[in-house]
Parts: sequence; C-alpha cells; structure tokens
Amino acid sequence: MNTCSNYLDLVNLPISSVDGITPAKAKALAEGGFLTAYDLATYFPRRYVDRRYRSGISTASLGQDVLLLVKISEVRAKFHGKGREIIEAIAADETGTIKVVFFNQSWRKHQLKANIEVALYGKVEKFGRFLQMVNPIVDLIGDRTGRIVPIYPHSEKFGFRSDEMPKFIGKVLNYTAGLIDPLPRNMLQGLGLISRSKALRAIHQPQDPIDHKDARNRLAFDEFLRLQTHLVAKKVSLELAAGGISHNSNGVQYLTSMRIAPKASFSARAQGSYQPTLGDYSSDNLLVRFLSSLPFAPTQAQIRVIFEISNDMASRVPMHRLLQGDVGAGKTFVAVVAALIAVQSGYQVTIMAPTEVLADQHYIGISRLLSGLDVPNSGDGGLFGDKERPLSVALLTNKVTASNRRRLLDELSKGECDILIGTHALLSEGVRFLNLGLIVVDEQHRFGVEQRAILKERSISSGSFEPDTLIMTATPIPRTAAMTIFGDLDYSVLDELPPGRSPIITKWAKNEEQLHGTWVRVRREVAQGRQCYVVCPLVEDSEKIMAKSATAIYEELSVGELSGLRLGLLHGQMATNDKALVMERFRNHEIDVLVATTVIEVGVDVANATVMVIMDAGRFGIAQIHQLRGRVGRGAHQSYCYLVQLGEVEETTISRLSACVDSSDGFVLAEADLELRGEGTLLNARQKGRSDLRIASLFRDRDLLNQARSVSRTIVGNDPTLSNYPALSAEIELFVGNDQGDFITRN
Ligand code: ADP
Ligand code: MG
Repeated sequence: MNTCSNYLDLVNLPISSVDGITPAKAKALAEGGFLTAYDLATYFPRRYVDRRYRSGISTASLGQDVLLLVKISEVRAKFHGKGREIIEAIAADETGTIKVVFFNQSWRKHQLKANIEVALYGKVEKFGRFLQMVNPIVDLIGDRTGRIVPIYPHSEKFGFRSDEMPKFIGKVLNYTAGLIDPLPRNMLQGLGLISRSKALRAIHQPQDPIDHKDARNRLAFDEFLRLQTHLVAKKVSLELAAGGISHNSNGVQYLTSMRIAPKASFSARAQGSYQPTLGDYSSDNLLVRFLSSLPFAPTQAQIRVIFEISNDMASRVPMHRLLQGDVGAGKTFVAVVAALIAVQSGYQVTIMAPTEVLADQHYIGISRLLSGLDVPNSGDGGLFGDKERPLSVALLTNKVTASNRRRLLDELSKGECDILIGTHALLSEGVRFLNLGLIVVDEQHRFGVEQRAILKERSISSGSFEPDTLIMTATPIPRTAAMTIFGDLDYSVLDELPPGRSPIITKWAKNEEQLHGTWVRVRREVAQGRQCYVVCPLVEDSEKIMAKSATAIYEELSVGELSGLRLGLLHGQMATNDKALVMERFRNHEIDVLVATTVIEVGVDVANATVMVIMDAGRFGIAQIHQLRGRVGRGAHQSYCYLVQLGEVEETTISRLSACVDSSDGFVLAEADLELRGEGTLLNARQKGRSDLRIASLFRDRDLLNQARSVSRTIVGNDPTLSNYPALSAEIELFVGNDQGDFITRN
C-alpha cells in the first residue's frame, strides 16, 4: 500500500483503490459522491457522542438536555389533526423506559426500528406517569465501542448505516499518517496547532474531547489559511504592479473644518441654514466649492471613510475598496466626493448601478448635488485654464434614444462628460471614455473582473493606467465574512447614520385583523401627506409570476382596502419608460402608494415615504427585508415597516421575521442571518465554485480566521508567488483555484 504525502495524492487516490474497501462498497460510495480518498478523509463528523456523559433514563435530571443511549423496542405512527403524523417510539436502557415523540417528522418511522441502538439528545420530561422526550436529536450509533463516537452527517442518505462510515474512513486514514505539513514545524508550534496527519486521525477517531477540538482547530485553520493566503497574495501582487493613477485629492482636508452635524440641528441644516466657513481653503478648488455648498454636514463616519478613499486614490496603487454602509448611511455622498477627486485630477468617472430605477435615482440625486459646479474646460488651457464649463453628469441606460446616445458617447470620448451614470449599458459596444479614472459600482456583487476589464478597455488615453475602483454595498456582511469573501479588497465601513433619523417601527402582521390595521396605517399616513410602498411576494426566478401577483394585489387594493388613494404599479415586466414614469410620478408625489415587486429593493430614495408593507414577508431573507425597510425612514418623519405573513409558518421563518422586528441594525441582523442560514449562502454571493470551507465556520471561528489572516500576511510578505511555501501554494491551486474570490481584482 502506498501512503500519501499530500492532499493532491489523496485527491488522486480513487476510493476503489483504497485497501479494505470492497468494489461493491466503492461503487456505493461513488454514488453518494465519495470518489476519492480525499472526499472521505474530509467528510467530517457533524458531532460526537461522548459516552462518558450519558445519563440513565430514570436518573436523568428532568428538564435539562441530556444524552441517553437506548435501545428502541417499538415504533408507531399516529395521526392527529389535519393529517399530521406523530411518530412515537418506546426506548429503554438498564435504568428504565421512555417514550420518544416526534411531531412532523414522519420519516422517523423509516429511520427507527425495533432493536436498534440510538443516542438521543434532548430534555427528559414527566408526562403523566411516563417519562418522555419530544423531538430529540437522534444518532444511530450501532454497537460501536470507544468512548467518543463520531456522528457523520446524513449517512443514511447514501444508503450506509451510520456506523459504516467510520470504517471506510478508518481505511483511508491508513494512508494519511505521513502527510507532509504545508506549514513549517516552528510556525505550527508558535500557533499552537497540531500536525495535519494527527489532526485528520483525531477528528475521526478522537480519544477525548480535547483531541477533536485540537483537530478541528487545525483543519479549520488550514481552510481559512488557504483562502486568506490566496486573497492576500492577489492583493500584494496588485500593489506591486502599481499601475494606478495618482489622483489629486487637494481640498479633501476641508472636511475636517466642517462642523459635524449634531442631532438637534438636523432640520435646520436640512433647510439649508447651515453654512460652514471657507477658512483657509481656496474657493478655486472643486472639492471645497462642492463641500462648502453642501446642504448637510457629513457624519464622522463619512469623513473617516472619505479619507480612506482619498488616500487610496492619491496613491499609485490602484484602489480596490469595498465600502459597506447600511441603507441610508449616505454612501452616495462618499461616492460623489471620490468622483470629484477624480474629476479635479482630470479624469472621468463612471457609476454603475444594477437597475434602471436605481441608475435614474443616482442620476437625479447626483446631478442635484453637483448642480452649479464648474470645471476647467479641458479643450482649452489645460486643467486649470480659466475657461470653465459646468461639470457634466450624464445617464446611460438602454432607454436613452439612439440620437441622444450618439451625442452622449461623442461627448464622452472627447472628455466633455465628467461623470457617466448607468446600468450594464455602460459596458456596451461604442462606449468610449477619454480617460476613465474611477469606477464606482453600486450594489453589484456580481460586478466582476470581466466587467472591469471591459470598462478599462473602453478608456482611450488612460490606456495602461488602472482606474481606481470603489464598490459599494448595503448588504450587511459581518466583518469576518467580509474578510473571507472580499479579503482581497480594502474595506471601509460607514457605521453611522446621518442624524435625525428616528428608528423605523417594524411590526409583523400575523392575521387578518393586523393586516387590516396595516392598511389603516397606510391610509392614515397618506392622509397626513406621506407616501407608502407595498412590496409583493417574492417568487424565485420568475419575474413573470411576480409581475402577475403585483398586478393582482394592485387591483385588489385599488378597489378594496386602499380605494380612493392614488396607487401606482411597478414591476420588472413593464417597459423601461413606463417604469421610469411611475418612479417619477411617485417622486413627484402624484402617487400615494406604490405597489411594486422587488425592483425597488435597492437605492430608491424618496424621503416622504414612511410606510413599507412587505407582503408574504416570510419568503424574503433577512438582508432583503432590511434593504426594503431601508426605503423608508429616510426623512424626518416617523416610519413604519409591516411584515405581512399570515397563518402558520416554519420555525426559521419565525426567527427571521422576529429578528427583523427586534433590530434594525444591519450588523446585528447580518450576524443573525449568518447564524440562521449558515455561511454557504453567503459565500455563494461571491464564490461560485466549490467552497473550501468544509469544517471552518465564519460564525464560530472568528478568532481562527483572524489568526489565519495575519499568518497569511507573514507568509505572503512581498512574494505573492509563495516561492518559499510550495506545498501551501500547490494546495491553494488545488482547492481555491483561480475562479474563487476572484471577482474584482484578477488581472
Ligand atoms: P445609501 O447609503 O443607502 O446609499 P444615500 O446615499 O442614498 O444612502 O443617503 C440617504 C439620504 O441621506 C440621502 O437623502 C442623502 O442626501 C442623505 N444624507 C447623506 N449624508 C447625510 C448627512 N451627513 N447628513 C444628512 N443627510 C445625509
Ligand atoms: Mg445608495
């Protein structure tokens, strides 16, 4: 028998060649998705049953979680209520007998049979004269010996008894004793990590709990380390390339002389009575002119983040920065300052939004913010020539007419357009910038390498220069997760909302009466001159069905609960112009209640809107609800969000909706979301391929992640090719590959 010296060897060893696994079993394993020795070696136990901590049925303390090792003697199914099934089993150990009851788990009748041994984990209760356990965690352990028994996830699903898995894995472990560790011994010792061979053995066959904890730490660390080293190496190689633009950030210091808005005087500021002084700053400077006419004072967080960005922009290293800020935190203002830094340096800016509605919104908002600003006329007398022209902001979406588009593109290629806002239409053929210096991407997780490359190619004279990139997102991502998903980006957080926002009151409408109350609220707010959104149920991947249901709800409300109010309808199947028209009418307050699909999810900014009603809210994820809710509470008026979800719902739905009712802090919600959904979904937001996180948890292993991050910095140093760590490098190649975490910075 050959032994394996690294993971690649394990990956190259088919199950059918593993000594001690019969061809029939190998075939069955292959059907379960286990093709190689590696697949089995890294099929980690879901948990362990520690026989030393077992309780006896009659000696267990009532009402506390305990572990029982029992033999099933009888299983029966009963019906109650509307065809719902209850499974009851009788189980015994040497101390007594207990009834085990399962609600809504019909499949248990296939899992549990007389005479099998199982581990039950749950609370023992007294029910009449009997002891019983309701909905315990059940593990089939068979007659295995050993004090600590590993339990593998869903082995029944593959057609194996759960006690067979450890045997197959044991065969594979015969090959792994001599694995060469990708990290030098002294480094491992310094980190308090055990060797990989030892870890693989101990995770599957622990002698005691410390054993499997150490094993888990080592293996989880490795997973983080691969990902982090990959990301850090990419970042360093970009920094070494240093082909960026050194923008002129003069004037940005003016921010520090602006008074930071105290809460009380917000309305005074909003009404324009706030006027910072120019002080020592030159009124020639574009940024200073802009900032001194700003209708509000920036928040402390905005100032901090702008400095982070302006430092990046001033440096020759191309900026790749992620700006995360909760809905309403004021990211647009930050983006506008970055844009002006590029413009005053003589470059053009493009701002890309995911939808036409949002592109329109940005265009309107940004044009308004920048109105009245002049820039030097580049055609004449260079950057600071005395001939000036108004700073030009333009919009490019698919609805721009052919002749307007031609004119716009002509101006763009001559450098007469400074800031071009748009949708994916920005990437289309024929768009040519004279000299693109900054790309701002709003709310687009899927904006990738290719898109960036296209934009860069569209620039005529910056040619070899890499434009700076600022990616903005309101999707709350816990820091640890952000580090994993966007670890190759620098990261700024706007963790403060502008003053004067009162928290949104969120309610869950659970029944018809509360739903009626919701419409009463809508009417009341409209009567007071406010506006409302009604968001229609989410249907996975079907714009058509969503449009239909939005239309139905719109029609029902117009003649029912909201009759007499001015209702508007907005959905993805409408013609672009119609969509824009509806949004415009809503903005102009010609519509009181906008019934819409999730097309309004991001970025829409109508400060007069105070009620967000989300129909069938249970279908939405936490992040989405949070986004939608962020459409209200943007002005000084008290705002409300109603989560409509009638009838009985699943436990996880209850948790999700309750989390949204309880908190409106994006980061708190993100943590809740991560805990509820697990990290898989989160990673999928960016990483398409196989996720390498098999054992590590972004939620539980934050400390390990931080440790891995700092170790990866040491390892990469100034050598992104990792020439001193060939084994680690090969592993990264093998698992992280080149398609993961690679959206924004790959060249
Ligand atoms: P988001 O981060 O969700 O994109 P926006 O940039 O749309 O947020 O800003 C939300 C609202 O807050 C806008 O109407 C904007 O003008 C306003 N705003 C931004 N910064 C401030 C500030 N410092 N003080 C007061 N209002 C602000
Ligand atoms: Mg925004």
